[in-house]
Amino acid sequence: AAAGGSPAMKQVKLEKESELRIEVSVNASLRLRLLNGTAEIFGTEMPPENWLIFPPKMKFAIFTWYGATIEMQDNTETDYVADETPMVSYVNVHAVLEGRRNRAKASSSDTDASQGPRVIVVGPTDSGKSTLSRMLLSWAAKQGWKPTFVDLDIGQGSITLPGCIAASPIDMPIDPVEGIPLEMPLVYFYGHNTPTVNADLYRVLVKELALILERQFAGNAESRAAGMVINTMGFIDGLGYDLLLHAIDTFQATVVLVLGQEKLCSMLRDVLKRKPNVDVVKLQRSGGVVSRNSKFRASARSQRIREYFYGLSNDLSPHSSIANFSDLVIYKIGGGPQAPASALPIGAQPVADPMRLVPVNINRDLLNLVLAVSFAKEQDQILSSNVAGFIWITDIDIPRKKITYLAPSGGELPSKFLLMGSLTWIET
Ligand code: ATP
Repeated sequence: AAAGGSPAMKQVKLEKESELRIEVSVNASLRLRLLNGTAEIFGTEMPPENWLIFPPKMKFAIFTWYGATIEMQDNTETDYVADETPMVSYVNVHAVLEGRRNRAKASSSDTDASQGPRVIVVGPTDSGKSTLSRMLLSWAAKQGWKPTFVDLDIGQGSITLPGCIAASPIDMPIDPVEGIPLEMPLVYFYGHNTPTVNADLYRVLVKELALILERQFAGNAESRAAGMVINTMGFIDGLGYDLLLHAIDTFQATVVLVLGQEKLCSMLRDVLKRKPNVDVVKLQRSGGVVSRNSKFRASARSQRIREYFYGLSNDLSPHSSIANFSDLVIYKIGGGPQAPASALPIGAQPVADPMRLVPVNINRDLLNLVLAVSFAKEQDQILSSNVAGFIWITDIDIPRKKITYLAPSGGELPSKFLLMGSLTWIET
């Protein structure tokens, strides 16, 4: 660092089709700008000369098609230039998708042909699925399309909190710092960061989300033609593989992009060859994708929750509210026997019903839990309802029967029905 505490600056020259890979320092943000030339960050063009500020720990790349010079603070964890990237193959995929969108747009709106590409990105953890999804969406948005982003990754989702699956139309290239705008995503709460807890519930929510999107597409030729990009979990063995097939089927994907795994690719080719309208395409993983261990993942999840309440740079002020126990009805989904043993035929074992709504007693165990606020007006709508947002339980006063919670904004909750999973957060 230079004298005075502010880090020294440096300039990095990028040749055409190369990228600058950066890991921002753990405890300081990074300022940089495009001095000349043109460059993009995961598909979104950098503005010329404006300073951009990247938060600590962020990992990203600045790619240039024709050459660029970057001016940046010299205080990163790492930064280096790579001239071998799979970007040309990625942009070729984009070009093919673009052709299909144009064909869909030109078809009359009541035929199958008016459906644009439904792309699903699959691969092991840290293969760059989210990043590729983002590039494809931003490149499409840049050309005026409004594709739908569907994120089925309950571990490290990029639309909303962990534990959720969600969809959002993308009408502008995605901001490299802010990410996907949180305006009006369609969110379903699963409640856990691994599907093994309740795979049936995961499947039901995926179906529900697909159904709603199908309805929206039916009435909107523009989003229909733009199609969707679906990001998936990095869990690809056993149950994970079954869930991938389930997602491909449920969303009627027409393009399966497989990142960095021969085996998965050939397995998918094998089972999907009976569907002639599905293309399975193998793509190379970028050498820039950073592996994240479970500790980093946990801290990224926690960071997402902080961001939801406090904003990316602590720029939001969440509201603390107090409710009576009797004002709120909390459920968890799944578990508990279906029927009391006494009601079962002799010899039958009570089984846990994965889709049962189990009422939750309010007690101190709820402290620090993050609950989803359902849009349901009636109890029987809960399972199929998306969620309006989240609250974080900060205090439970048993004698006075009061519950204190934090919400992004004040005012009444849109419903008294709250959903509980295993999502917790502790302010650090
Ligand atoms: P998971 O399934 O585990 O969520 P993923 O396959 O979706 O992971 P990404 O989230 O796309 O992987 O990438 C992992 C990390 O690597 C991210 O922080 C991303 O910003 C970073 N990254 C991706 N590509 C590059 C690159 N070319 N240079 C530098 N960093 C990159």
